[in-house]
Amino acid sequence: LTVPELPEVETVARQLAPRLVGRSVRRLRIFDPRLRAGPTPALGGRRVLSVARSGKRVLLEFSARSERRDPLWLAVHLRMTGRLLWTDGAAALDRARLRAAIDLDRGRLWFLDTRRFGTFTWYRSRPETVPDGLDPLSAELTAERLERLLSGSRQSLKAWLLRQDRLAGLGNIYASEILWSARISPFRAAGSLGGAEVRRLHRATRRILERAIRNCGTTFSDFQDVEGRSGSYQNRLAVYDREGRPCVRCGRPIRRTVQQQRSTFDCAACQPGPRSA
Ligand SMILES: [Zn+2]
Repeated sequence: LTVPELPEVETVARQLAPRLVGRSVRRLRIFDPRLRAGPTPALGGRRVLSVARSGKRVLLEFSARSERRDPLWLAVHLRMTGRLLWTDGAAALDRARLRAAIDLDRGRLWFLDTRRFGTFTWYRSRPETVPDGLDPLSAELTAERLERLLSGSRQSLKAWLLRQDRLAGLGNIYASEILWSARISPFRAAGSLGGAEVRRLHRATRRILERAIRNCGTTFSDFQDVEGRSGSYQNRLAVYDREGRPCVRCGRPIRRTVQQQRSTFDCAACQPGPRSA
């Protein structure tokens, strides 16, 4: 089972924005008490000001309820099987998976989640919503900045890319795809890259993520967009889940290695280097 990563969450945020922004909230209903970890603020009467992605989370911004109250942010982490689904009118939903609903003056946003690992986090100020790691698609992440972040690290590159406190939003699928695209071994030490390699890694990160967003993400497990459609990027993956199949660049078989209890896919010929976890 794979987890939604940056492109899947970006897809959801982009699709929700035109449906939600400007709408006012009638009420918030929480069906699963586990979503009430911490105080749940009053939402009725607030307007949705923006919907965006923050790391791997969907971030909804709500207006103040009155002059004296503050604006409010809700970060939804989908984790493994969480889905945000927007409907206008009647919808046949699986009640067992339903965890919350936000009723709007037009339409309704549902939070469905089979395995119930998804979370709601509320914030009273924007700076609190910003993740520790840099967003890989932000203008701040230049090749020079990436080189500084990598320098000195003895972690393997694959493990480094999965750390959310350096770059926020990458997971197992896109880390493998980015390293194949950059022609760099996932087993190299992160701090060992030369300047040209860092620039290749920087370009590949943008290229792969932007292409995945254009294809509305990858669907392996439960990921579906806000209208219940699947993404199509799984048809374009070069290495992920392609063990033994030919590398589309050189024809050699793609290999799978268990690295930190997770599968890493690479091409030994295109990505020369050590093979150790
Ligand atoms: Zn190859």
